[in-house]
Amino acid sequence: MLIDGHGREVNYLRVSLTERCNFRCQYCMPEKPFSWVPKENLLSFEDLFKFIKAAIDEGITKIRLTGGEPTLRADLDKFIKMIYDYKNDIDLAMTTNGYLLKSIAKDLKEAGLKRLNISLDSLKPEVAAKIAGKDVLRNVLDGIEEALKVGLKVKINMVPLKGVNEDEIVDILDFCKDRGMQVRFIEYMENVHAHSSLKGMQGKEILNKIKEKYEIEKIGRKGSSPAFLYKIKNEDYIFGLIDPHKHDFCETCNRIRLTAEGYLIPCLYFDEAMSIKDAVQAGDIDRAVEILKEVLRNKPKENRWSEEESEASNRAFYETGG
Ligand code: SAM
Ligand code: SF4
Repeated sequence: MLIDGHGREVNYLRVSLTERCNFRCQYCMPEKPFSWVPKENLLSFEDLFKFIKAAIDEGITKIRLTGGEPTLRADLDKFIKMIYDYKNDIDLAMTTNGYLLKSIAKDLKEAGLKRLNISLDSLKPEVAAKIAGKDVLRNVLDGIEEALKVGLKVKINMVPLKGVNEDEIVDILDFCKDRGMQVRFIEYMENVHAHSSLKGMQGKEILNKIKEKYEIEKIGRKGSSPAFLYKIKNEDYIFGLIDPHKHDFCETCNRIRLTAEGYLIPCLYFDEAMSIKDAVQAGDIDRAVEILKEVLRNKPKENRWSEEESEASNRAFYETGG
């Protein structure tokens, strides 16, 4: 079992497969062009798998593949199958923008992927294009449809932004409700890589928009999930709100992040990271596990976004995987 310096059990590993992305979401990527980490600096699937096996042996029971855009990595299905074949009861999930999903959803499901979170910020083509930096909506909707068709469990992530997509909160909720998918509204987390003009909607404001159409009931958090769940009154439908500006989910934080370059990051907000790359590439898995335990010992108690005045994080979401 992996325990951090604050006594929390850590059983959830989020693995960013690449920082590259085919979108340029305003809340995630810088306005100005920048250069990517060279591909040769990324950990190969073989090296990632060596670490993942050791992490599973130490007590990791849930793995989420993310990025950047994870579907940009070739042979993703083979990598998923490697993990699945090692331990088929691992809760194996992925977060994707859905753009490339239509042609690969079936292969990913057959390889052992269980669940998908797909980002969907707007149902209006021009708004989706404004947020993502290109015309994306048709592909994303086709990707969602295909994922459902092949039997993947799908949740939808939406980041509501003031003056951009705030008028679509209920439309996206209804879209998800009609298709039996849980939507999770994620408060915009301020970071120095995002477009400077952005203003996120606070949890309360998001709920108020929903209350204009529906009566809602509080359910609460399930386990270590960051999402606070709500139910639409007199219906079966449940949706989630992720509000990192309150710190109540930090108390039960169970996660650690690995970047595509091999840095272990103890908290989404903070810069601190240690690399397992040299150890893994040298075949010294014991050392990689020691580094994992050291990073966990130093995991901060909570992030530094706040309801009053948030400090922007230096961490890039496209590196850490959100
Ligand atoms: N590219 C994939 C995607 O967009 O789903 C996976 C990586 S993305 C970094 C993971 C999640 O982080 C997405 O749901 C995205 O909406 C969310 N995200 C990115 N930047 C964010 C920010 N500044 N605040 C809140 N959520 C953010
Ligand atoms: Fe790419 Fe996801 Fe970041 Fe959007 S949120 S730019 S899709 S990594």
